[in-house]
Amino acid sequence: MLEDCLFCKIASGDMPARIVAESDRWLAFRDIDPKAPVHVLIIPREHFESLDELEEGHRSLAGELLLAAQRVAESEGIGGGYRLVANTGADAGQTVFHLHLHVLGGRAMRWPPG
Ligand code: 5GP
Ligand code: ZN
Repeated sequence: MLEDCLFCKIASGDMPARIVAESDRWLAFRDIDPKAPVHVLIIPREHFESLDELEEGHRSLAGELLLAAQRVAESEGIGGGYRLVANTGADAGQTVFHLHLHVLGGRAMRWPPG
């Protein structure tokens, strides 16, 4: 756990969040400022600043996060029509520097993103 990391605090239970699913390695909770009718964030419990910090040894964790996204989409009723986003770095719009996947759905999405 990284001190002063918002998502580490959510993972440890020090900060409240609306959790929708969890395992020993990841946590899924509702975004505080949803950008779509369904907007869930999936984080590894272990702290990584972004996707860029994952290495070969994290293959199974990376796969688990993807499968978690698929299952959350299904349980939220948007299976078959959702967007998965991993903003990586400030230029991509990352604002919380603990790796997370956005699962967005429940409305039509535009492309390309801003
Ligand atoms: P990023 O911009 O880094 O890709 O996404 C960070 C996301 O975290 C944003 O969508 C933002 O609304 C969400 N967020 C920021 N602070 C909190 C919080 O305290 N609780 C929850 N549940 N989401 C948060
Ligand atoms: Zn963290």
